[in-house]
Amino acid sequence: MLTTLYWFTQDLRLDDNPALTRAAQSDALLCVYCVNRRWFNPHRYHISAMGTHRWHFLQQSLEALSTALAALNQHLYIEYGYPEQQLISLIARHKIKRLVCSRQFGSDERKVLRFLAERFPALEIEEVDSATLFDKQQLPMASSDLLKGFTPFRQQAELLSVPPPAQTPMSLPRPVLRSVPAPTLPTWIPGSYRRPDASQSRFSIAAIGGGEPAGKQHLHEYFSGTLPSSYKDVRNELDGWTSSSKLSPWLNHGCLSPRRVTQVLQQYEKTHGQNESTRWLFFELLWREYFQWLALAQGDRLYALKGLADKPQHGCLHPERYQKWCHGNTPWPLVNACMRQLKETGYLSNRGRQIAASCFINELAMDWRYGAAWFEHQLIDYDVASNWGNWQYIAGVGVDPRGGRHFDIEKQTALYDADRAYINRWAPDAPELALDSVDAADWPIA
Ligand SMILES: Cc1cc2nc3c(=O)[nH]c(=O)nc-3n(C[C@H](O)[C@H](O)[C@H](O)COP(=O)(O)OP(=O)(O)OC[C@H]3O[C@@H](n4cnc5c(N)ncnc54)[C@H](O)[C@@H]3O)c2cc1C
Repeated sequence: MLTTLYWFTQDLRLDDNPALTRAAQSDALLCVYCVNRRWFNPHRYHISAMGTHRWHFLQQSLEALSTALAALNQHLYIEYGYPEQQLISLIARHKIKRLVCSRQFGSDERKVLRFLAERFPALEIEEVDSATLFDKQQLPMASSDLLKGFTPFRQQAELLSVPPPAQTPMSLPRPVLRSVPAPTLPTWIPGSYRRPDASQSRFSIAAIGGGEPAGKQHLHEYFSGTLPSSYKDVRNELDGWTSSSKLSPWLNHGCLSPRRVTQVLQQYEKTHGQNESTRWLFFELLWREYFQWLALAQGDRLYALKGLADKPQHGCLHPERYQKWCHGNTPWPLVNACMRQLKETGYLSNRGRQIAASCFINELAMDWRYGAAWFEHQLIDYDVASNWGNWQYIAGVGVDPRGGRHFDIEKQTALYDADRAYINRWAPDAPELALDSVDAADWPIA
């Protein structure tokens, strides 16, 4: 009799989940999700990886998944602690011979799998591609060629066909555990992570909430009008629910699969016609795809100060500048509005992310990794590959052949917030403090 442990990670759904389909080829199934204690502890950048916005979204996604599994007579077993220890204990206790999960792209997540392989040499571990458009063996180029940049990847990837999404399973093997206790939150999850009242939210992601049904509903709504046909014209706007798809939180928690999104996009194109905007939406999904495979190929170099380009950098941290940037108290009203929107909602437009990151790297002249870590903490749609990959890109240490990006903040304000509606919405009373309270010219000479 084959008992499989299915380790849910960034694939919190039943629809188009080929990893779960593989796992279901088994006599009994143990479905597990591990809430990692390390997410809540301050790490080397002095903050925790998990902020409240993403935590609430994750909890909602887990509740929805639990409900969906229960409808198929399965249980979601949520473990709190250190994933490698939790998985070791479950594998040993239930004499598990096979572990299946979606392919992991972050190097920390991959370390857990390596650890399990060493601990249980006879354990069969299967990683299945369910978070990307393509399977690994479909990739058009060798991993080392990904360093040549996005354009060669895109040109090749556009010639491939995205595999059709798989249907939601009608049944699953019997559960290993007859019942699971209702999860109680451990005390190491701080009280400040209590759930806010989503109805009070000024932003709709929190109001819609996490989970597969919410993600499907949002996907349906975005494609039910004509918004995708004008996506490219509005995608650079700083604010507004309809200026981009807002699919990222559901994509990155795995409540939606990129293949399902692509299929819905292709159906939309059949009905409404393909145009520059619909093509651009797919182009952005290819950016996401590219960053996943790049992260997998490059491992820990994704977090290195010198980046994938191995380019020498100064690695300073000015604590005062850092605080002012994080909380939106810099001398630049546009940056303040971006940072306050991010802190309040967990979301920031792509243009806002670029401006805020460029300011951190160029005006504040700090080690880009502290900025990336703040985004990791705040973003509801945080994705290890897209976040660290985009930060490297702007810092000029990534794969961009043109070097880094320096956005002229005045020019960006004139272009994207000429009437200051965005600034007035998110940071109407930000103090516009000087960057440093100590003027270097006044520094006493010993
Ligand atoms: C400094 C910085 C940090 C970022 N961190 C993240 C992150 O942690 N998670 C994340 O998903 N995106 C990140 N992005 C990329 C991008 O800003 C978001 O994907 C996008 O704003 C999400 O909103 P949307 O779903 O409405 O995107 P849309 O514009 O509607 O795009 C559709 C989808 O394409 C993908 N996509 C779009 N732009 C990019 C991009 N530049 N890189 C990778 N994928 C992209 C996303 O999956 C997105 O949902 C970052 C960008 C920058 C500049």
